[in-house]
Amino acid sequence: MVLEVYLDDVVRLRKPHACGGSDWVVVRIGADIGLRCLKCHHRVVMPRSQLERRLQRFVRRAVPPEPEVDLDLDLPSPHTDVRA
Ligand SMILES: [Zn+2]
Repeated sequence: MVLEVYLDDVVRLRKPHACGGSDWVVVRIGADIGLRCLKCHHRVVMPRSQLERRLQRFVRRAVPPEPEVDLDLDLPSPHTDVRA
């Protein structure tokens, strides 16, 4: 299962940073994830797999998870057919 991380998510890691803070905001998404310490603003980059192992929980989700997504939006009724 792939960890879903979004920009501006705030994550708590199992191990506190050297400064004593343990919450990080996601500042870069990619194969590597960029995090900035909320306490001392130190930036780190770590592979997604490492973040998965270190992640304790999400403190704040920037994009709320939506179980129902996108494909069939805006259908007023199941029988509407606008192609006529
Ligand atoms: Zn720090």
